[in-house]
Amino acid sequence: MRLSRFFLPVLKEVPADVQIVSHQLMLRAGMIRQEAAGIYAWLPLGLRVLKKVEQIVREEMDRAGAIEILMPTLQLADLWRESGRYEAYGDEMLRITDRHKRDLLYGPTAEEVVTDIFRASVKSYKDLPLNLYNIQWKFRDERRPRFGVMRGREFLMKDAYSFDLNEADARRSYNRMFVAYLNTFARMGLKAVPMKADTGPIGGDLSHEFIVLAETGESQVFCHKDLVEMGAPGPDVDWDGDLQPLVDQRTALYAATEEMHDAAAFEAVPEADRLSARGIEVGHIFYFGEKYSKPMKANVAGPDGSNAPVHMGSYGVGVSRLLGAIIEASHDENGIIWPDAVAPYDVSVINLRTGDAACDAACEQAYAAINAAGKAALYDDRDERPGGKFATADLIGIPRQIVVGPKSLAEGNVELKIRATGERSTLPLADALKSVGA
Ligand code: ATP
Ligand code: MG
Repeated sequence: MRLSRFFLPVLKEVPADVQIVSHQLMLRAGMIRQEAAGIYAWLPLGLRVLKKVEQIVREEMDRAGAIEILMPTLQLADLWRESGRYEAYGDEMLRITDRHKRDLLYGPTAEEVVTDIFRASVKSYKDLPLNLYNIQWKFRDERRPRFGVMRGREFLMKDAYSFDLNEADARRSYNRMFVAYLNTFARMGLKAVPMKADTGPIGGDLSHEFIVLAETGESQVFCHKDLVEMGAPGPDVDWDGDLQPLVDQRTALYAATEEMHDAAAFEAVPEADRLSARGIEVGHIFYFGEKYSKPMKANVAGPDGSNAPVHMGSYGVGVSRLLGAIIEASHDENGIIWPDAVAPYDVSVINLRTGDAACDAACEQAYAAINAAGKAALYDDRDERPGGKFATADLIGIPRQIVVGPKSLAEGNVELKIRATGERSTLPLADALKSVGA
């Protein structure tokens, strides 16, 4: 993409009430624009990152055996009356009436809809296990939308739903999602620690929140230091094997937030092994058994002739929130530092003297070569001062910059800058292209 023809409305000033750095940087870098409280338009740069994050989530869900569907944003209130949640959900639910005076709502989550889809066609244990997921906009009328896309009212969520014959099978489905989450967040360059979460009135011990450690997180997190450094198991896990030891290992390295009251478990971690940090919840997984299948009569026949409610779990990832979390975890005073896997472009080509025949030719060559290699280049061909171009490149955080100026070029060289480290090298264009993979 040529910057002169792109739509990148960077901001010099951000509103004074913008509190956290990711929100400031997303506005300044022209990624998003607020249309109403907690409701954002995604501008081209932001949309490219959103799609990359979404695609990583999708690939890891697919790898773990989940199957993608797309459920509507608008749902019938009657389904929520069946599950008993319509009244209980409260003011966070956006309720809508259509021209026939039917009650609809903008889905804050989709347990009811997916259970309705399931019960219409699955009747036997032979069709299990099944895990259906979708990546769809949700609406929650949050009391205090804030921190940009971190706590929006309209936000993009990946929500998966598992269906199993019994609790033991459901635990296997749960464990797959647990491992898929470790891999998903690691691919985005994040350190996300799984934390045993409160299951509330439903009971059971199967719920984990995945928390990205970042100074500006909404919750105070305490965790075992090894948990942070542990990394992800990677794609080669035996998905059909027993994942329980892996889940147990991560869970034993205890993590807690200040709202959680499992003090005993926390005390059990030797003081030298704790570290305290702040965190952002990017995912939440949950086993809830028959909570929806029972009232909604989603039954399956078992091999022994029984007919009982299916066992379900749900697994959420805050896709749009992840952009804020990634920026919180990866930025400096000049702007965003995108991890390679989610960067909106792979390489910036910066022309320090647009209109100079030699500079233009070298930049065009670099731009074409990078694109031909299947990478995405953003070419700053604008008629602007070098200082402004450097500032834009650093602000929007493209991992590698190839800087072409008349002085170096006369000696046959360009400059290559690595955004994350600030490291610069002067080298021939061909070598710079090779080192960015073109
Ligand atoms: P929170 O405690 O932050 O409100 P939650 O427990 O309500 O989260 P879930 O219902 O588990 O969230 O939703 C799954 C995921 O969706 C969360 O882990 C989070 O990443 C994301 N999410 C939830 N609410 C919002 C929001 N208002 N804006 C952006 N992302 C959100
Ligand atoms: Mg919430």
